[in-house]
Amino acid sequence: MTEQRVETLEFQAETHQLLELMIHSVYSNKDTFLRELISNASDALDKLKLAAYQDKDLGADTSDLHIELEVDQDKRVLTVRDNGIGMSRAEVIDLIGTLAKSGTADLRRKLTEAKSDAAAEELIGQFGIGFYSTFMVADKVVLTTRKAGETEATRWEAAAGSSTYAIDTVADAPQGTSVTLELKPADEDDHLFDYTQEWKLREIVRKYSDFIAWPIRMQVERT
Ligand code: ADP
Ligand code: MG
Repeated sequence: MTEQRVETLEFQAETHQLLELMIHSVYSNKDTFLRELISNASDALDKLKLAAYQDKDLGADTSDLHIELEVDQDKRVLTVRDNGIGMSRAEVIDLIGTLAKSGTADLRRKLTEAKSDAAAEELIGQFGIGFYSTFMVADKVVLTTRKAGETEATRWEAAAGSSTYAIDTVADAPQGTSVTLELKPADEDDHLFDYTQEWKLREIVRKYSDFIAWPIRMQVERT
């Protein structure tokens, strides 16, 4: 039986401060968010491939492992989807809701002091907070995930600047993870950073994700 399991949880204070820092980024290369999402998706596909190999009874479909970018230009919504390993509800709370790695305050100080984009990028990678870089470009982030071998799926949602996130159990979702970003309004002076534009997404994929072994597909709903 699935009980009603909607919860609103507080970010840890340090996580919240880090989110704030991401939103008012000291750090100008916002393109990084997509590289981080694609790298997470790629890791999830690697993990599923390994898990399916180790456990023949897993019952996961591994015939068409891929990453998909989907854009709704009208709604300014960008979704990055994978059909990889997925996460259980506990894993979502653990891995996404809190920053598993300690030293967030330390990171915050270092990020503030970072002298270049490259230095900031390295810190983000090193401290394992790739997922949070989505808040540089999104007002709201929704993650829906179903772990391979499980039937229930989990939905995680947070708005930029909020000190809380919501988590819920959903009945059906495809195996794997989708991250949906409600993109901030495009900056008129800065149309070069409009992440609803297919050329822009392709440029980032080419630049940062060339080495990704899995197919990356793109679906753009034009206005
Ligand atoms: P890192 O990738 O450095 O660990 P992230 O903030 O990018 O840090 O992601 C945190 C964790 O959340 C990952 O380590 C992974 O366990 C989990 N995660 C993130 N995205 C996905 C995804 N698409 N599928 C499965 N797990 C994910
Ligand atoms: Mg990552």
